[in-house]
Amino acid sequence: MSNVATKVAVIGSGISGAVCASTLARNGVSVTLFDSARGPGGRMSQRREIAEDGKELLFDHGAPFFSISNTDVLRLVHEWELKGLVAEWKENFGSFDYHSKKFIEIDQDGMSKRYVGVPGMNSICKALCNETGVESKFGVGVGRLEWLDNENSWLVMGMDGQNHGSFKGVVASDKSIFSSRFKDVTGSPPPLDLSLVPELAMKLQDIPVNPCFALMLAFTEPLSLIPVKGFSFKNSEILSWAHCDSSKPGRSTTSERWVLHSTSKYARDIISQTGLRKPSAATLTKVAEDVLEEFKSTGLNGSQPFFRKVHRCVDFVVSTGGCLSRGSAFPAASVAGEEKCLWDDKKKLGICGDFCVSPNVEGAILSGLAAAAKLIDAPSCL
Ligand SMILES: Cc1cc2nc3c(=O)[nH]c(=O)nc-3n(C[C@H](O)[C@H](O)[C@H](O)COP(=O)(O)OP(=O)(O)OC[C@H]3O[C@@H](n4cnc5c(N)ncnc54)[C@H](O)[C@@H]3O)c2cc1C
Repeated sequence: MSNVATKVAVIGSGISGAVCASTLARNGVSVTLFDSARGPGGRMSQRREIAEDGKELLFDHGAPFFSISNTDVLRLVHEWELKGLVAEWKENFGSFDYHSKKFIEIDQDGMSKRYVGVPGMNSICKALCNETGVESKFGVGVGRLEWLDNENSWLVMGMDGQNHGSFKGVVASDKSIFSSRFKDVTGSPPPLDLSLVPELAMKLQDIPVNPCFALMLAFTEPLSLIPVKGFSFKNSEILSWAHCDSSKPGRSTTSERWVLHSTSKYARDIISQTGLRKPSAATLTKVAEDVLEEFKSTGLNGSQPFFRKVHRCVDFVVSTGGCLSRGSAFPAASVAGEEKCLWDDKKKLGICGDFCVSPNVEGAILSGLAAAAKLIDAPSCL
């Protein structure tokens, strides 16, 4: 392997990392993007499941949609819309009161536009990771970032110890890369030793997150008692949100697929009993039963789903292959303020992600753009 460091490494193919990588590539920077997951998207992934009868079922189990108010981000979203990667989800949405078992709000006109990736939430990240100038490596968890003082560059090592080369700049787009919780899950220190960047360290200490479970359900018949395609719950201990995934543009409608999100409190209670490691089958079964029972007791669904499966969105989960895959549900902090990302100019290290701005897709995009701008404005490294 050549030791000539000419490239920038972006760690994470969620929307912040993918936007950062594609912006760098469009500005002539050679980017290698690493993700421990099998495909792009992070918390904008799409899950492929197979029902007992062999039918393929696709679910957006993370972010169900996103809304945009920032004009720079809107410009990008319109570009994606023109390419057919994004479409507006034009349905009615509402809010359901669990106590009275009634819908208390139905937003007919749509307060703000709700966008979805087409044909799945991951389509945007997929396209960005395939842009010219971005070399994407999936299934590669970064296990260590070593600073080479004499070369002014970073050595990127995989979780399996493999050397992935040296890079003049690095952008880390996930909290687990520097979180002390990484050790609780993997037994190894986090990839980035924060003592290398003491000025950033204070801001990055154990950023809190709000965990969530997502229950994916498929029905043969439409849930016709529900007058909306997405709704939040008021006064439920267990449920926070439900949406009809198959009602989004570009999705198959051969079955009706719903995704239910738990409250953070419910997820935190379960995790306090099981720890951060991958939950056992028994835990997942219990969660599926609790969440489904709560949904049934709304009186909104008469029929049994022919498919159900729980996904956990928490700090991080170690997959059976030993590499790290995770989705931190909703970070409960925004650490970067006006800067929108954290940046160490000497070491050309950027930290981006929704936790830098706001816990949503728009915040993550803004942060990815900000990290790319730091590198583009630092030509000495490129
Ligand atoms: C259940 C749920 C519902 C949501 N609802 C909404 C909503 O309605 N609207 C909205 O706007 N937002 C919503 N969000 C939030 C939104 O999904 C996130 O804000 C956004 O996707 C975060 O993007 P990101 O790039 O910051 O992080 P992520 O998407 O988490 O990307 C980080 C990536 O880094 C990778 N990674 C981590 N460690 C390593 C490593 N060591 N080596 C290599 N790769 C690594 C991960 O695999 C991941 O792909 C929701 C999220 C969840 C989970």
